[in-house]
Amino acid sequence: MVISLLIIIPIINKYKRKIKNEMKNKEKPKYRHSKQRQRILELLRSTETHPTANWLYNKLRNDFPNLSMGNVYRNLNILVEQGLIGKIEFGSTFDRFDANIHQHYHFICENCGEIIDLELPVDKKLNDKVTKKINLKVRSHNIQFYGLCDKCTE
Ligand SMILES: [Zn+2]
Ligand SMILES: [Zn+2]
Repeated sequence: MVISLLIIIPIINKYKRKIKNEMKNKEKPKYRHSKQRQRILELLRSTETHPTANWLYNKLRNDFPNLSMGNVYRNLNILVEQGLIGKIEFGSTFDRFDANIHQHYHFICENCGEIIDLELPVDKKLNDKVTKKINLKVRSHNIQFYGLCDKCTE
């Protein structure tokens, strides 16, 4: 146990340093590096659940007693602006956040709201098809599939 901890801690520290450097590279001078923002990015990368701002807030508020939901939203928007995370917007319901910034499709459970990344190749030809059809330059697209997840089908 002690041995494995000794191995794991340097790996975690290395991982944290990597995230910090990556953030610094993307940070424009207008934003100071922030510990809160770094923690938000670490948390998002540690899960595949595409959390809400509220989920992140609940995970962080013990570590940062002065944290408010406003702080969390502000930091999330900065990370989106910097291209470090993605935002999945749902109109009336809560936005969900995604550390996977490579273009990918999502499956969304209509019952419990679970969002799953799909290992489906992104159809780049679709951009050209639509570009031809509507005569506007399409640069990317986003597809969401809806249905019931495994847990909700049981
Ligand atoms: Zn479900
Ligand atoms: Zn995703």
